[in-house]
Amino acid sequence: MKDIVRVRYAPSPTGLPHVGNIRTALFNWLFARNTGGKFIVRIEDTDVTRKVEGAVEAILEGLRWLGIDWDEGPEAGGTYGPYFQSQRLEMYQAAARRLVEEGNAYRCYCSPQRLGEMRAEQVRRKLPPGYDRLCRELTPDREAEYRSEGIIPVVRFKIPAEGHTGFADLIKGDVVFDNRTLDDFVILKSDGYPTYHLANVVDDRHMEVSHVLRADEWLASTPRHILLYRALGFEPPAFGHLPMILGPDRSKLSKRHGATSITEYRDQGYLPHATMNFLALLGWSLDDRTELFTREELVGHFSLERISKTSAIFSHDKLRWMNGVYIRKMSVPELRDALVPYLERDLPPEVHRPLSREYLKQVTPLIQERLITLGEAAELYDFFFLDNLEYEATLLTGKKLTRENAARGLEITLERIRGLDEFDQGKLEETIRPIAAEIGLKTGDFFGLLRVAVTGRTAAPPLFQTMAVLGKERCISRIENALRRVRI
Ligand code: GLU
Repeated sequence: MKDIVRVRYAPSPTGLPHVGNIRTALFNWLFARNTGGKFIVRIEDTDVTRKVEGAVEAILEGLRWLGIDWDEGPEAGGTYGPYFQSQRLEMYQAAARRLVEEGNAYRCYCSPQRLGEMRAEQVRRKLPPGYDRLCRELTPDREAEYRSEGIIPVVRFKIPAEGHTGFADLIKGDVVFDNRTLDDFVILKSDGYPTYHLANVVDDRHMEVSHVLRADEWLASTPRHILLYRALGFEPPAFGHLPMILGPDRSKLSKRHGATSITEYRDQGYLPHATMNFLALLGWSLDDRTELFTREELVGHFSLERISKTSAIFSHDKLRWMNGVYIRKMSVPELRDALVPYLERDLPPEVHRPLSREYLKQVTPLIQERLITLGEAAELYDFFFLDNLEYEATLLTGKKLTRENAARGLEITLERIRGLDEFDQGKLEETIRPIAAEIGLKTGDFFGLLRVAVTGRTAAPPLFQTMAVLGKERCISRIENALRRVRI
């Protein structure tokens, strides 16, 4: 048994990093950090046809954004590199050669056409799919003949004809496969590239990976991997298959359920820590009660024993709730700094950039009260930044006011605030609150009128604080503007 924990996250760069995939990275990272082990990132880029430009960068960026650091891998280097499979082809080819020489694998010359017909026949006869092992017992003469025809073979692994292959899954417990359900899978393609199975096993062995924690979908690959390890004379690592992640309707998490890539969550303005906390609870829990964990607490408490066997449900509502909680936990300067890139990205072009940091410091506490994601700030609070507000004039009167009393309320307010030397919350409240009674309006209706006049909205942060932040000049011009509208 290897005593040092060495785990890896082995993404294939086939697209934007899926949240489920990042959850795998997170669990591996938490396990490594909890045990003082090493966390390795290895890029499994041998499937040239599915490679997507920029995917590696997006994956690494997703990890960095969450604060998941790696001890070995791209950029970090390490003694077991290179950490891109496409740069390790010789190791896989050598392993495949060895397997052939020792009788554990064989070259297969079947044409794609033959394999297609074989599959069609299997479907027709309702037989389980899989290679029919035609090339498994080729004579040397026959092989030489194929070669002289210029056919380039693939290499297939020889699955034992009988018996069972089992392992003690760290999460699921004992798992056993009947070898008769496994087919002689390809380990090396005719272009010299390995398949996932061979490359994965060779690398996990070479990188001295102690625990393979990966998504449930790889469970069926594990008996193949174990047989490969044995054929190569290596001791397999421990395996644990993480519970699936489902949408609230209990179907596999997909685009239908909303954003699926970690970068989308970042762009929508989820906080890295809220996202990490949320992902950690997709299949792991401390006690079925505690929801909020700092990064240190997650690292400190994480254990494989507390990973659940049953699928996890991805609830956007919970993620939104959690993000809101963390937004409210931030200090004002922290939140202000986090908001800047989102506001500068999302506010209409006429708003002057860069935004004033001083002004933002005053706006931030008001935004902080109810904000859910950073990406919603511009839409909900644009009135703090715009010169001209657009809104329906009927919002001013609402259901309760006539144009006359709205106009009257605005006029008196203007008159009184024009004379103010101080424009803070206390002074504003003292000056404005009594006006409602003076002109015979309910306080709520009167404040509603002013709220629309200064923000263009019926719902906004507390009125007097908002007015104080907007400042005297802006409030006066907005109220004048509102007055013109009710008079029309
Ligand atoms: N490259 C595989 C993936 O994209 C790795 C699976 C494994 O961890 O073995 O998920």
